[in-house]
Amino acid sequence: MQATVNSLILHGKSIGLVPTMGALHEGHLSLVRRARAENIVTVVSIFVNPVQFGPSEDFRKYPRDIEGDTEKLLKEGVDILFTPVISSVYPENFLTYVEVEKLSEKLCGAFRPGHFRGVATIVTKLFHIIKPARAYFGQKDFQQTVVIKQMVKDLDMDIEVVVCPTIRERDGLAMSSRNTYLDPVQRAASTVIYRCLKEASGLVKSGIINVDHVKRVMQEKILSEPAVTAIDYAGVYDPETLDEPSEIKENAVLAVAVKLGETRLIDNILVAVKKER
Ligand code: AMP
Repeated sequence: MQATVNSLILHGKSIGLVPTMGALHEGHLSLVRRARAENIVTVVSIFVNPVQFGPSEDFRKYPRDIEGDTEKLLKEGVDILFTPVISSVYPENFLTYVEVEKLSEKLCGAFRPGHFRGVATIVTKLFHIIKPARAYFGQKDFQQTVVIKQMVKDLDMDIEVVVCPTIRERDGLAMSSRNTYLDPVQRAASTVIYRCLKEASGLVKSGIINVDHVKRVMQEKILSEPAVTAIDYAGVYDPETLDEPSEIKENAVLAVAVKLGETRLIDNILVAVKKER
């Protein structure tokens, strides 16, 4: 892979990278299309990164479909598919990890200790191997985009981080490889996440900037759905620091992480406060 990209770069070809864990859906493919439009060469990586999964998480059962994925990527005209094996990414004597402090501990980080350390480490490795000019990430994993942007800035990585909009099912559920875990009852209940985000963004747009108020509405909405077994968080956060303000100043990210049975789903939307004229 490194020999290939070195030769591409030598010939002045800009590389766009789309890092994924596979089981590709339209969300992933939207990133691929954007990368194709903005770069001469598009590389998609598929690697289910063991380091970003906790010991009781779904690493082993995470959906894998390399044949289906390859077919989809061929159809999209992707130039290179990179599917390294675990032993080459993390050989026995592997000792180096990348940690983005503070931002990694909030929101999902509080419930998935070590997750963003795993993400930052694999993304750094992919950046070093593939040397992209641009790398494409989905807004669906909002905290991931914040962590990666910070890492790129702090470690002087000369890479443009491009954040692409969340692609949803017709009923609003954000597409995710994990949606396949949902049984029909959970799948029907899962729409509460987007309904909750839409209702909350409506409140903010109508001028309600008190975070406790918006948060209460969000939590009540989610709790009205009996198939939800846990709310990890549901609230209003600063899009840069991920802190919880008491009042929304200009803009905010409304973010939710809930469990339906064993399946953990996340989603978010950005919202701007209406300016008084
Ligand atoms: P994953 O395979 O889940 O690690 O996701 C790979 C990339 O695709 C990440 O940057 C995700 O944020 C992005 N992604 C996943 N689902 C969606 C979606 N529904 N819409 C847009 N991007 C997505």
